[in-house]
Order: sequence, then C-alpha cells, then structure tokens
Amino acid sequence: EDVRSLLLSRIKDVADYPKPGVMFKDITPLLADPEAFGALTGALVELAGRYGATKIVGLEARGFILAAPVAVQAGIGFVPVRKAGKLPGATLAQSYELEYGTAEIEVHAEDLATGDRVMVIDDVLATGGTAEASLSLIRRAGAEVAGVAVLMELSFLPGRAKLAGSLAGAPLDAL
Ligand code: 5GP
Repeated sequence: EDVRSLLLSRIKDVADYPKPGVMFKDITPLLADPEAFGALTGALVELAGRYGATKIVGLEARGFILAAPVAVQAGIGFVPVRKAGKLPGATLAQSYELEYGTAEIEVHAEDLATGDRVMVIDDVLATGGTAEASLSLIRRAGAEVAGVAVLMELSFLPGRAKLAGSLAGAPLDAL
C-alpha cells in the first residue's frame, strides 16, 4: 500500500495531451525519483519471481524503461517488442486495431523459444490492444505467457476484459 501511494504520487495527469479530451498519465516524475523508480523495479522483480518468468518482454517505448532494470535485477533476458520496421533480423509481426486505423508490433523470432516463460511489462494498460498483440507474438514464437504487469491500468477502459481471453489464466497485475 505504501508503494502504491508512492507510485501514484509520482504520476502526473496532463490534460488534453496528446489531443483534446485525453488525460495523459505522465510517468517522467516517477522515473526522475530514484526511490519511486526503485520501488517500482523491486515490485516488478518480485512479480517476475512469482510468475516464474525466464524472459522479460518490454513494450516500446515506456515499457523498455521499466522492463530493462527488472530483467537485470532478476538475472533474466530482456526482449524488446518494437513498433514495426525497427528490428533488423527475422521477425514475427502482429497488427492490431487502434481507435482509428491499425498498428503493428514485431519481435525478433530468435529471442523467444519453446520453454520460455515470458513476463510482459508496460507502463499503461489502456484499451489492451498493445498487450493483447504482444501475447499473440509470444505464443506464436512458441513461448508461454507467464504474466502481464503494468504500472497502471486505466480502469475506466475495458483493457482487462479485452485481455482476459488471451491471458488464458495467466495473471495481470497493475501496481
Ligand atoms: P492500449 O494498447 O492498451 O490502448 O495502449 C497502451 C499503450 O499506449 C501503452 O504502450 C502505453 O505506453 C500507451 N499509453 C496509452 N495511454 C497512455 C497514457 O495516458 N500515458 C502513458 N504514459 N502511456 C499511455
């Protein structure tokens, strides 16, 4: 509960960003505070242990910032899931629906393998589209989804419900 209130106190609501009507959750104050960033990293490392994760997937771009120190502290590998067109090697790609149009994410096929138990980390779960597409990439690579952890869940959006089917029983934790 202490960690929760510390984290909450370091997330800034920015009205009308990136467009009118959106209340953006800015995590840069949290990243700039070593106590809060450390507490978040520690909580995610604990979850990685609980999940029995053997790989950490971070979702571009803020997911990278949160996931990298977790992978190092947990002593397991970090795998970036990137927006399409950024990875040089052979990739698996998955497209998904946005409010207007579609987006596509990719992972290096050789970074995930059968037997891997993958923890997905991102900063915000909004509609759940990005996380859902990442779960599909992980399974298509032959790996298992160990759990999904986000700093925050926008509970006024149906992200958790959207993700329920693709989690297939794996945990979704919002800190
Ligand atoms: P979703 O696919 O769940 O709709 O959107 C989640 C993605 O959008 C995450 O990768 C997250 O970084 C980004 N995102 C959506 N809304 C916000 C927000 O208010 N603040 C931040 N920091 N990221 C957001």
